[in-house]
Amino acid sequence: MNERTIKENLDTVLNNIDKACKVSKRNASDVTLIAVTKTKPVEMLLEAYDHGIRDFGENKVQELVDKYDKVPKDARFHMIGHLQKNKVKYLIGKTVLIHSVDSFELAGVIEKESAKQNTVTDILIEINVANEETKFGIRSEELKKLYDQIKELKHIRVRGLMTIAPYVDDPEENRQYFVELHNLLIDMRDENIDNNSMDILSMGMTNDYMVAVEEGATYVRVGTGIFGERNRP
Ligand SMILES: *Cc1c(COP(=O)(O)O)cnc(C)c1O
Repeated sequence: MNERTIKENLDTVLNNIDKACKVSKRNASDVTLIAVTKTKPVEMLLEAYDHGIRDFGENKVQELVDKYDKVPKDARFHMIGHLQKNKVKYLIGKTVLIHSVDSFELAGVIEKESAKQNTVTDILIEINVANEETKFGIRSEELKKLYDQIKELKHIRVRGLMTIAPYVDDPEENRQYFVELHNLLIDMRDENIDNNSMDILSMGMTNDYMVAVEEGATYVRVGTGIFGERNRP
């Protein structure tokens, strides 16, 4: 079998991001690739690091913290998975961005732990934009209320929105959801003109990241397309 190397895959993904930026007249520097390393050994993470990647996505606190201790200090870890409240204390200070905040209770725990560590934690609010039963995240209609609650917290900074789009054969089917998430961010920004750090749209995965970039993604989260298939438990 002719396995593609991590470097070849990275070149392909970065090239595709470039192409999608050209199509939508965006700057490639406005889009950051998060290499999703969940379930993959730290050696693979380091290989991507050697090829210039600095942003890594994990979906379990334990795995993120383990890898954090084994990689150079300028690697940036993103928490992209569902987050349990009792794990937050291990995570604060080790992640640059929590992508998956979907309740005020969770935000409250992040606030408390961040205050304890005398830090401010950047977060995204996760939206279940296609209203899928099986997905975490709030519905679009619930965003304003949750944001109004969270913005009172002093040790949390809401930087934008994240979504996990449906798994589809044709990525064009997800374009509508990326447009919707982008519009939600614009609305949120318009209502909070004083908050000019609300600029992150985390959307797009291996299957659909090019469409996501065309519709304004600033972070794409790609795992399989870089590191190959994950073993399913
Ligand atoms: C696993 C995961 C990804 C990466 O998915 P791929 O299809 O392997 O690119 C992206 N985002 C989240 C939230 C994930 O859990």
